[in-house]
Amino acid sequence: MIKNGVDFSTYLKSYPDDAGYFGPYGGAYISEELQAAMQEITDAYFNIAKSAKFVNELRRIRREFQGRPTPVSHLERLSNSLGRVQLYVKREDLNHTGAHKLNHCMGEALLAKFMGKKKVIAETGAGQHGVALATAASYFGLECDIYMGKVDIMKQAPNVARMKILGANVVEVTHGLQTLKEAVDAAFQAYSREYKDAIYCIGSVVGPHPFPMMVRDFQEVVGIEAREQFLDMTGELPDAVVACVGGGSNAAGFFSGFLNDPVKIYGVEPLGRGPKLGDHAASLNYGSEGIMHGFNSVMLKDDQGDPAPVYSVASGLDYPSSGPEHAFWKKTGRVQYDVADDEEAIDAFFKLSRLEGIIPAIESAHALAFAMRLSQKMRTGSILVNLSGRGDKDMDYILENYGDRLD
Ligand SMILES: *Cc1c(COP(=O)(O)O)cnc(C)c1O
Repeated sequence: MIKNGVDFSTYLKSYPDDAGYFGPYGGAYISEELQAAMQEITDAYFNIAKSAKFVNELRRIRREFQGRPTPVSHLERLSNSLGRVQLYVKREDLNHTGAHKLNHCMGEALLAKFMGKKKVIAETGAGQHGVALATAASYFGLECDIYMGKVDIMKQAPNVARMKILGANVVEVTHGLQTLKEAVDAAFQAYSREYKDAIYCIGSVVGPHPFPMMVRDFQEVVGIEAREQFLDMTGELPDAVVACVGGGSNAAGFFSGFLNDPVKIYGVEPLGRGPKLGDHAASLNYGSEGIMHGFNSVMLKDDQGDPAPVYSVASGLDYPSSGPEHAFWKKTGRVQYDVADDEEAIDAFFKLSRLEGIIPAIESAHALAFAMRLSQKMRTGSILVNLSGRGDKDMDYILENYGDRLD
């Protein structure tokens, strides 16, 4: 498939280019010191991560430790309640630790191991990435420093406990607003001090090159499995595939399996309380081009041009930018980006739980909410949704805010 001059039959081998660009987006806007460290990771990625030894070891781990392949499930009762379009979900909620994030954390930590590093370093906001990386570090016997804002540490006590139980060192960040942005800065500073012994493990398809490429490639397994499973189940490809987009890792991996197919692709961003700046985190829908955290993409900006505050009911989607590849896919028209607001996501959360026996992460419920809306417009056909994670982590929030719906 060719779209706006981009040939998607060879796309995954051609993008990003050697400097880490997807069209105008991506790159590595970092200090010289960090550039050297990133070059080391890039070289290791091409030399080690593409070797048979690495690929076979990662395959074995996915099967024996992560429980892959995760299944595809047909949502028969939910589909029937909506009309004739058939909805299916790829079950990343059944991946070990309950979400897709472990896919790239195991890849990054295995790379660290092959490179002879002793430690992995990362930041975390809601704590999901920290828990996945702490799991990987424990599995491989690596030290693990997770930088986290003091405010987030207080809000996310269960995830902080999980990281500590898994043996990770949670480093409290006490400057500025004491949330994710400060944690990113602190983790990058630590990495520039320690890069000889450590590697940085980013939590999504964001940050400087080579991370958007590496994380996409480690997540591609989701798209490859889902495509094969769907073909096997139904004898054809889905008419549309849908995933939620925060930084964009679950969507990037899932979409990668379908880029060259006659399949419509939709990314769904959180509209939160509405389209006013500060009330949502829909950077691809409402943002403009800008550089933050070491890469060029689209971002939501405040009056000063700095990253704007963002909000949605799903903390895993609350990031003022998105991966550079999504900005590029949007520009080429290969992927369409739409939104779902808090109310729609919560409604989808309860519908899936009550009709199908699957409690989704509120992040994933955004993708499902959009798919439900799309099914009303399509009338016939099939939609495959990436269910990026399970909703156990969201119970406290649901009880506190939507407890009345339980009676
Ligand atoms: C972190 C998270 C997301 C958002 O991250 P992406 O990089 O956009 O995939 C989505 N769903 C779940 C369950 C998450 O934990």
